[in-house]
Amino acid sequence: MIILGVFGAAFGSFACCQAWRIYKHDKSARSHCMNCSYKLKWYDNIPVLSWLMLGGKCRKCRKPIGAAEILSELGLAVAFVLSFVLWPHHQQLVELCGFEIAKFALFLIQLVLFAILFVYDAKWKEMPVPILIASCVLGVAFWVVNFIKIIVLFGFDQMTLIQLAGAMLILPGFYYFMYKASKEKWVGSGDAILCVPLAMMLGNFWLAMFCLFLSNMIGSVIMLPVTIAKKEKHAMIPFGPFLILGFLVVYYFQVLFLNFINGF
Ligand SMILES: [Zn+2]
Repeated sequence: MIILGVFGAAFGSFACCQAWRIYKHDKSARSHCMNCSYKLKWYDNIPVLSWLMLGGKCRKCRKPIGAAEILSELGLAVAFVLSFVLWPHHQQLVELCGFEIAKFALFLIQLVLFAILFVYDAKWKEMPVPILIASCVLGVAFWVVNFIKIIVLFGFDQMTLIQLAGAMLILPGFYYFMYKASKEKWVGSGDAILCVPLAMMLGNFWLAMFCLFLSNMIGSVIMLPVTIAKKEKHAMIPFGPFLILGFLVVYYFQVLFLNFINGF
């Protein structure tokens, strides 16, 4: 878990840098201060610790670095650890089932992409298309591994395909409809694309429903005070972060959600 946390923090740092690099179209490898261009030394680049020791300020010009960096590092560290602790097939993972290890690895890579999308959408209210496409590819790979696992362990089950179709209808389908119906006023096309990997990884109609519901609820609760404060009637809401948060809750607690549905 400590190793996962350290890796998570390092990749969180990487994700935040990638968001900036994509935004600035700057492929230079070295991290630098946005204000004075001070090139970060290795000891300025230690995730979380450097930020804390520098008090969130540039070593040279003392201008604040911003909260996104540390939040991204801490957030991904927590997400990496939680993914292991709350993994729905935890027992199989611990027993080193090959399929679960492959799924877990794909999930962690997906989390890094989600972190880039999260930071980018929160900062600039859009999501970079190459990252969205990479996320879709990972989502498909995740679903295929899970599909093969089900075939190997339980035999072919057409419900897997029907459930996937249901999930696709609920998440990307609904968001694409909202995007078209509102002429991009309510949701952006990026949200609809982000829903593809979410639906592939949930792979279940009901889980997709819960994800849709939770994302909208988290989004409303957090954005309502902001929207009122800004007095903007049609403020653009970066919805990607809420979709990702809703997805994570539903993914981690999917057994509870499915038991709840099966209880009816
Ligand atoms: Zn500086």
